[in-house]
Amino acid sequence: MIEKTQAITLRYAPSGNTSRVVTWLTPDHGRVSTLIKGALRPKSAFLGQYDLFYTCELLYYSRQRNDLHFAKECSPVKLRAALRHDWRACAAASYLTDLALRAGPARAPQRFLFHWLDNALDALPGTGAQLQSVVFWHELKLLNELGLAPRLTSCLQCHRDLAPGSAARFSHERGGLLCPACAQQDHRPASPIPPDALAILRRWQRAPALAEVQRTRCTPQQLVVLDRMLGEFMRYHLDLALTSRDLALGMIKR
Ligand SMILES: [Zn+2]
Repeated sequence: MIEKTQAITLRYAPSGNTSRVVTWLTPDHGRVSTLIKGALRPKSAFLGQYDLFYTCELLYYSRQRNDLHFAKECSPVKLRAALRHDWRACAAASYLTDLALRAGPARAPQRFLFHWLDNALDALPGTGAQLQSVVFWHELKLLNELGLAPRLTSCLQCHRDLAPGSAARFSHERGGLLCPACAQQDHRPASPIPPDALAILRRWQRAPALAEVQRTRCTPQQLVVLDRMLGEFMRYHLDLALTSRDLALGMIKR
């Protein structure tokens, strides 16, 4: 069966001497791998038609009993050349692409994930000093959509509202905040969260668009807290090692 779809290049690997296996993220079929026969031959019709971070129009023969399909045609819709000149944004794009690759199941509709990555790759170049914040906001959006959003308004144990400015502890294992009294009785680790960092997280979690994030000027200390909290939370709830996150954020901070 022939499928025609938009597809973002997630990764590629050699297959034999001249062919390649390309893994894509598509809205309706999730993660899809295609064999491109002769992809590296000088006259291949696929040369220059796809690369990492491209969004493409892809035509492929879908095989029902095999996870490797055959690419028939491909043409780029968005090349995102800016990512190739901005190495910090490129590091962030590599991380978010890796996250999309591993966060969603193969062969299932992934409309949200597709649009999330498509928008993220568009948004990353040119964000300058805000780049880390832009990455954190995308992490929050992804967690939201996966039903894993950290709960940031009331104590997970006694359900008491934690007003802005009140003392709270953040338990990544419990999935959100505990009031100091409940945190003391809980055997799982919970770290104090400074009120200013909590206020930022709450605001970003509600923010429907990036504009809110771009208006927030985080101090280096706030960024360290947000990085640690979100990192621990995602590692635990997505059950992923997230080495690409450490690498990317390490490069962005340099
Ligand atoms: Zn409590």
